[in-house]
Amino acid sequence: MTAERVYLSTTIPYVNSRAHLGHALELVQADVLARHHRRIGDEVRLQSGTDDNSLKNVLAAAAAGISTRELVNRNASAFAALREQLSLSFDDFIRTSSDPRHRPGVERLWRACQASGDLYRANYQGLYCVGCEQFYSDAELDGGICPDHGTPPQLVHEENWFFRLSKYAGQLHDLISSGTLRIEPAARRNEVLGFIASGLTDFSASRSVDRARGWGIGVPGDPGQVIYVWWDALGNYITSLNFGARGAERADYRRWWTDADRRVHVVGKGVLRFHAVYWPAILLSAGQPVPTEIYVHDYLTVDGKKISKSARGGAADATDPVALASAYGIDALRWWLLREVPRAGDTDFTVDKLIARANEDLANGLGNLISRVGSIAHSYRNGVVQPCRRPHGTSRWLAAGTDGGPGGSPQHGPAPEWPADAGPLQTAVQLAPGAVSAALARYDFRAGTAAVWEIVEQANKYVEATAPWNLAKAERAGEGLASRRLDEVLGALVAASRAVAAELWPFLPDLAAKVAAACSDVGGALPAPHPVFPRIGPARSAASRAEGQYPAVAAGEAGRQQVSEVV
Ligand SMILES: [Zn+2]
Repeated sequence: MTAERVYLSTTIPYVNSRAHLGHALELVQADVLARHHRRIGDEVRLQSGTDDNSLKNVLAAAAAGISTRELVNRNASAFAALREQLSLSFDDFIRTSSDPRHRPGVERLWRACQASGDLYRANYQGLYCVGCEQFYSDAELDGGICPDHGTPPQLVHEENWFFRLSKYAGQLHDLISSGTLRIEPAARRNEVLGFIASGLTDFSASRSVDRARGWGIGVPGDPGQVIYVWWDALGNYITSLNFGARGAERADYRRWWTDADRRVHVVGKGVLRFHAVYWPAILLSAGQPVPTEIYVHDYLTVDGKKISKSARGGAADATDPVALASAYGIDALRWWLLREVPRAGDTDFTVDKLIARANEDLANGLGNLISRVGSIAHSYRNGVVQPCRRPHGTSRWLAAGTDGGPGGSPQHGPAPEWPADAGPLQTAVQLAPGAVSAALARYDFRAGTAAVWEIVEQANKYVEATAPWNLAKAERAGEGLASRRLDEVLGALVAASRAVAAELWPFLPDLAAKVAAACSDVGGALPAPHPVFPRIGPARSAASRAEGQYPAVAAGEAGRQQVSEVV
């Protein structure tokens, strides 16, 4: 397959508070896609950012008794810091209130739609939920209450600019039903098609400066009006590419939007309508290409409850991804998000589930495998192992000098073939890259991690089946065949471990690097074994967690136990 140019984005959250676990889910999913595409040789740009111009930010700042600018700066910085705190790899981070690329881009988008005759002034009266930044019809409200926020909307009456959304119903239907704009999962595509079929009405694309409390981007040529915050926020996907610039300065826009093979938005189900209807319609009106894909994730609940601002606060907060990552590690947090959250349907998070999943998979499954392989290699071979050859068509293995491809290594000559009894393990290694690619093409992160895990499981089974410690005994007893057999078993296990590191990398880049280092050839031998993922100590009660006490991390006890068992 030839390399593609892939532009990936997360949504830009409003910053009236800090990030919660739901933001982490979206960021990690997008990061996995970006890393996967980079490692298969695609050109990738991953973007995130913050929506600073929401009225919600103004209200939160007023409640906190600080300026809007101060609140926005503080919280936007906290979102940007997630890059290190969650091992994310975004290439760009746009802040809509301060990035010099944003305003000219939004203004240009506005003028382009105006030139198409799609913006007009009209009187409007409607029920507006500030929490959603959205007008609601009576039918959409729940007994007069916002279904999302449980609060009554405000009655708003003013003259606004309107966008002629109704004009684009036919084109939107055709783009989406033909798959030119692909919406995944299919249920979400059907939801959008149903919404379009029910009749699109024009939407208010501005509000009065008074109602916006002077915050936001002014309507070009109309000083009394501020551009609707959703219009402004959606624009970020192209303003960051210098859509508002002229000539050569607009190269990013051509490269990553007009000429990209894929323009992919990762979004939550709550903002589907904005991304799948409003945004493509604005682009059509402006004469610009629409996104090629929208992947829609569902929501997380925490301890059975919806994540809400009121339930949050303090270091012990199980909705705080930074607290969770610092207590249990980035790998454990990412692994739960990727291994447990299905492609469709809400998922309940608890700290106990995170710990159980990390201990079962990362400490027992993978950590134990790597400890055993290192320990066997050092106990019986002083760390000198000739890994079996990398099967054709599989991803290159991580770390220089660790690629057991046809060339072998200078120290050891050509890489050996896989032993005849390692068939299921070799097959798992061979199939994993294709299975990971196929799963991620469907945005099925659970299936992707499962394909990596098949190698880990087969490798652990192979250790049990071949019992290398018995081969070592037989070798010491002078059984001639046992020596060669032990070499080939170790060769298969080290090769499989390297394959795990390569396939795990998009999901858990930090742990993958540790695994790769543990089975790298350094000066002709593997490094001395040490646990790559220490077991997380027993979970304390929910009550003690609420007081801010996270379970301690036991420093590699389980890993060491398992090592001593085999030698
Ligand atoms: Zn609402």
